[in-house]
Amino acid sequence: MTPPEPFILPPSLRRVAMLAVHTSPLARIGGPSAGGMNIYVREVARELAARGARVDIFTRQERADTPTLTVLEPGVCLIALPCGPFGSVEKISLVPYLSSFAAAVDAWAGENRRTYDLIHAHYWLSGIVGDALRCRWDVPLLMTFHTLAQAKNNVARSESENEATQRVVAERRLMHSVDAVMAFNPQEKAEMTWYYRAEPGKVCVVPAGVDTALFRPGDRAEARRSLDLPPDDPVILFVGRIDPIKGIDVLVDALCGLRREMWLTAPPRLVLVGGGEGEPAFETLLSRASAHDLLDRITFVGSVRHSDLPTYYHAADVVAVPSFYESFGLVAVEAMACGTPVVASRAGGLAFTVDDGQTGYLVPHNDPDALAARLHDLLTDAPLRARLGAQATVAAQRFAWPVIASRVVHIYDRLIRGYRLDLCNETLAQGGMMTGGS
Ligand code: UDP
Repeated sequence: MTPPEPFILPPSLRRVAMLAVHTSPLARIGGPSAGGMNIYVREVARELAARGARVDIFTRQERADTPTLTVLEPGVCLIALPCGPFGSVEKISLVPYLSSFAAAVDAWAGENRRTYDLIHAHYWLSGIVGDALRCRWDVPLLMTFHTLAQAKNNVARSESENEATQRVVAERRLMHSVDAVMAFNPQEKAEMTWYYRAEPGKVCVVPAGVDTALFRPGDRAEARRSLDLPPDDPVILFVGRIDPIKGIDVLVDALCGLRREMWLTAPPRLVLVGGGEGEPAFETLLSRASAHDLLDRITFVGSVRHSDLPTYYHAADVVAVPSFYESFGLVAVEAMACGTPVVASRAGGLAFTVDDGQTGYLVPHNDPDALAARLHDLLTDAPLRARLGAQATVAAQRFAWPVIASRVVHIYDRLIRGYRLDLCNETLAQGGMMTGGS
């Protein structure tokens, strides 16, 4: 596999302000509020900086002793400024503090003589801050929502899983006020236009990416030894935040069926990476596993450093991504890059990254029987796993960060130079670059 061509930064792009108000790239990934978005912000910033741009990432100061400025790597600064009370807080409770946060960002930029060519805001809370700053700075604002409240509400199973109306209203307003919106796949773009009446010409589609130098095939036996996992057990891996939307309860139900079916041969083991004791969703999961008498078949690992994850992907026979909703689904692509086939829900971005029958399988969400059947197919057929895994590694290369970042930069450049995005959508779609699907 040849590495992707490095791209050259356009002269229009010198300094970018990234807004990631509610969660920092330094947060513990796999906890309740830190996952794909944190990885995305860090990786895009890193790619830009490696090519000579300067990136300042603004986030809320989570503790009194958090330094205002941390250099994450050459060219990338993390700037933590006050936004409401310290400690972990409900995201929605940050809303009243967003305008003072925007003022603090503006003041910090003024004091430090920083000017920006573009603002890239992540998640709706940052969008509100970006909206205030773009007027003061007179620069374009690009918005990545990461998730959409309306799309989440569509698959909510109870009132408590519904997103606040305040968020829906804010997202609708931002869809119109920002200069451009970046969706991760064509379905997300369609959702933006259906639910929020976003102007299609304002929305570009650029998938998220994967670090193909970190996530690449490895030795299963060695990985199992280092993780102290039985060498011959069929192993299903789940990686992610422990959140109802991830469908882990459906996976536990599927595991129950699989244990019955594979009892005489080798019952499978589920390795669960992410979350931790004390998180309410984690405790609910524990009691479900206990009710099914499955505790001895599940290894609860807790959250794992991103750089340590490849070993888990290598140790697994199959990775399950049973989400009800996923705007992109980094975990599926990381597994694919490692050569481990995926069984994923046909939900959101997963339908554009997993090629059914070629690089893994797609099943309906909330269907434990369908999930169990496909997991069974892979767990009991080593040649099938090897074939799909090898194809998955090849397919994942189109999501290598340098490839993705070059498209992000293309969008930045268009916006800075004041071009309409719909023309650039056309150009990129002609090159097959915007769909992210296969
Ligand atoms: N992740 C991690 N450690 C963990 C759990 C998750 O580094 O313990 C990472 C995982 O590798 C992936 C991200 O968190 O890069 C989750 O992204 P995804 O898009 O799958 O889900 P999201 O969190 O955005 O819903």
